[in-house]
Amino acid sequence: MHTCRNCNQSFQTELALELHRDTCKKGQLFCQVCGDRFREGDATQDGWHYECPNDECEGDGLQEDLYRVDDVRAATH
Ligand SMILES: [Zn+2]
Ligand SMILES: [Zn+2]
Repeated sequence: MHTCRNCNQSFQTELALELHRDTCKKGQLFCQVCGDRFREGDATQDGWHYECPNDECEGDGLQEDLYRVDDVRAATH
């Protein structure tokens, strides 16, 4: 079983999870450094300074290393 970390929905296959992650409403931030997605609340304490919640990842700064998924979609279309 594969579970989405953002919304806790479960999927039978990794592919199904990957497809879900593209549309998951709760995975709104995208880290350019490690390529992971997570909730906005996981990346910031105060709504001002953002950093990647992954321990091994150095990514930080909204619009620097971290982007909103919606913004990325808008930019590529
Ligand atoms: Zn999800
Ligand atoms: Zn990261």
